[in-house]
Amino acid sequence: MKDLSQLKSYIAQVYERHRSNNDGVVATYIPELGKANPNHFGISLVTATGEEFSVGDSQQEFTIQSICKPLAFLMALEQHGREETLRHVGIEPSGEAFNSIQLDALNRPFNPMVNAGAISVANLIKGSSPEAGVANFVKRLSQAAHRELRVDQAVCNSESETGHRNRAIAHLLRNFDIIDGAVDHTLHQYFSQCSVLVNSRDLAMIGATLANIGANPVTHDEVFDMHFVKDALSVMLTCGMYDFAGEWAYRVGLPAKSGVAGGIMAVVNRQLSIAVYSPRLDARGNSVRGIQVCKDLAEEYGLHAFDFMNFGSNFIRAL
Ligand code: GLN
Repeated sequence: MKDLSQLKSYIAQVYERHRSNNDGVVATYIPELGKANPNHFGISLVTATGEEFSVGDSQQEFTIQSICKPLAFLMALEQHGREETLRHVGIEPSGEAFNSIQLDALNRPFNPMVNAGAISVANLIKGSSPEAGVANFVKRLSQAAHRELRVDQAVCNSESETGHRNRAIAHLLRNFDIIDGAVDHTLHQYFSQCSVLVNSRDLAMIGATLANIGANPVTHDEVFDMHFVKDALSVMLTCGMYDFAGEWAYRVGLPAKSGVAGGIMAVVNRQLSIAVYSPRLDARGNSVRGIQVCKDLAEEYGLHAFDFMNFGSNFIRAL
C-alpha cells in the first residue's frame, strides 16, 4: 500500500518535471485573463480526511471559470431535482468545443459542462435578484473551500463586455424557452460564477468535498447534498474536459473539470482531490501542465477509476 508521504514527494517531483514546460498560451479572448503570469504553476492535494499538501504557486489566485460548472449543476439539482433540471440541460458529451452553440434534438444544451449548459444551469439557480443569486453561489463555494471567496469584478466586467457568443447562446436558449426571464440576469449569474477567485488549494479543498460525498473534510459541514454528488462527478468524467473528454477518461480516468484561467480540479472518489493551476492552455482550452500532472499522478498511483491498482480507499486507510 502506498502512503500519503510518498504521494506528496511524488507530487513535488512531478512539479519539478513539468516546471520548465512552456507549451500553450494564456487565454486572451476574455481580455482581463490575458494579464495572468504564464509561468505561475501550483499543485495542491487535499484528502477526504482533510490532509493538505501544496507545491509552487498554490496561493496565487485566479478565476475559477468553467470549474464552477459542476458545482452550479449540483446546486440546480438540489433546488429543482433531477427531472426538472434535466428538462433544461442534457448529460450527453457533445464532442464539441466549450463555447459550441449547438443544442440537442430537444433544443437543450448537450451537457452542463459546455457554456450553453452552464448558462441554462445558471438560469435555474439565479435567485430572485442578481445579487442574491451570486451571493448564494459564492457562499456555497466558500463553505466547500473553507475560505471566504469573492468575485473578481474586473474579470466579470471584462467577460460581460466581450461575451457576445455567450450572449447569443443565452438568447437562443431563451428562444426555445430553455431559460426564462431576463437574459441579462442569467448572464450576470453565469459570468459572476466564472469570476470567483480561487487558488489551487481552494480547488483541491472543493474537490475533496466532492470526494467526501459533499461534506467538507475539515469542517465536516454538509456543503452539497450527497444524493447529487454522483451526478456532478459523472458528468465531470464524461464531459469535464470538453472535446478532450474521451481521451481524458481513457488515459486519466478521473472526474475532472478545467477552466480557461488555467485551473484543473480532479477528484479521486472517496479519497482525495488534486488541483493544478498553470495558465498556459492547449487548443481545447485545457491547462497543458495541468493535464500532464494529472496524467503522471494517475499513472504512477493507479488513480484511474478502473485501474487494477486502484483498491478503493488506499490513502484513507494509510493515514
Ligand atoms: N467564462 C468562460 C466562458 O464562458 C468559461 C469558459 C471555460 O472556462 N472554458 O467563455
